[in-house]
Amino acid sequence: MDDCIFCMITEGKLPSSKVFESDTLLAFLDLNPCQKGHTLLIPKKHCKDIFGVDPAIGADVLAAMKTIGQAIKDVTGCTGINVVQNNGRDAGQMVDHLHWHLIPRFAGDGLDLWPQGKYDSMDEMNAMAEKLRKVLG
Ligand code: AMP
Ligand code: ZN
Repeated sequence: MDDCIFCMITEGKLPSSKVFESDTLLAFLDLNPCQKGHTLLIPKKHCKDIFGVDPAIGADVLAAMKTIGQAIKDVTGCTGINVVQNNGRDAGQMVDHLHWHLIPRFAGDGLDLWPQGKYDSMDEMNAMAEKLRKVLG
């Protein structure tokens, strides 16, 4: 896709700090990392978000996450990794080419990616699950 920066990286029209490549996937370092070693994994074929992705790529993505995640652990010495994937502006997606963030984590590193919310009651939570089950069939 012409005006997509991650397509440009895939096509070699923009530079990147590439760390992994396969027939279907590319991984490179995030330019503005949450932590050093923060890596982005993308499908080479453009799609905007999970709603446009071919699920057949799923096994490749999981295998790559495992391999790249282990490399990040070995190189950075991190003791944990967050895998984050944003869909839509309200979810924080700034680049409209599907990508997964692999973010190294260290004890006491102070990153707060997951502030906790609450249901008012178990009834409210059960009602939400019921609605989702209905849609999911
Ligand atoms: P998101 O907010 O989930 O869309 O994440 C987009 C990420 O892409 C951000 O963390 C940016 O720092 C990163 N980013 C944007 N442009 C580049 C680039 N040219 N090379 C590497 N990372 C980039
Ligand atoms: Zn793209």
